[in-house]
Amino acid sequence: MNSITTWQSTTHDPVSTEKLAEKIGQNLTGGEVIELVSDLGGGKTTFVRGLARGLGSMDHVSSPTFKISNEYQGQHLQLNHFDLYRLGEAGVIYNELAEVIDQPHSVLVIEWADIAKNALPIERLTITFTQTNKQARHLQFHYPHSLDYVMKGLN
Ligand code: ADP
Ligand code: MG
Repeated sequence: MNSITTWQSTTHDPVSTEKLAEKIGQNLTGGEVIELVSDLGGGKTTFVRGLARGLGSMDHVSSPTFKISNEYQGQHLQLNHFDLYRLGEAGVIYNELAEVIDQPHSVLVIEWADIAKNALPIERLTITFTQTNKQARHLQFHYPHSLDYVMKGLN
């Protein structure tokens, strides 16, 4: 059950990254945790924009770097967008994350999660972005079989 599946894809512009994320957003049913890993400018927030659209949200998606978290209302689910880049220590955020993770009608997507990794469930989708040139990003997806449905239509 815990064995990990890997899938990968390269996008050649931001719109393609958003479209890929939008498909994943359409597959979400609530309770999922998605961790986004990359350097600054890797495309994490761009990906979240597509996720929100896939969930049917019209809300504006921006980097929550200074606020730590944003929430967007989708058609059926809420998307909780965390960015821990500026967070000095994880203590204060543990409870907030735990609350969000426990809600069946919410999806958690998190940038710069390293500092609070222990708060995340093992059963999560991790996407690692690598910039291969100015407009290209290599995306690697790691997820347990329990999340196969999230990748439906992609692999
Ligand atoms: P992060 O949240 O990882 O810091 P952002 O999504 O905020 O990254 O920024 C990514 C930047 O890279 C944006 O300016 C975006 O337009 C640009 N970009 C260029 N090519 C791509 C691509 N293929 N996928 C995503 N973003 C891209
Ligand atoms: Mg970002």
